[in-house]
Amino acid sequence: MANHKTCMECGGELLADDIAIHRKLINRGAEEFFCIDCLARKLGCKREDIQRLIEYYRSTGTCTLFV
Ligand SMILES: [Zn+2]
Repeated sequence: MANHKTCMECGGELLADDIAIHRKLINRGAEEFFCIDCLARKLGCKREDIQRLIEYYRSTGTCTLFV
């Protein structure tokens, strides 16, 4: 079995950031994830908005999902 996760919507390969932001925005205990594109569509916002959030959470250094 592959050791990387794929998006449950489009099947695209997920990066650690994709998983972290999904947990942050949707469900901290999630076992299935959306990629940034699908997450943005679900939330009705733009991919850039999600990426900005990722940068924000990483810059704060307080979220254990972004290390
Ligand atoms: Zn996707």
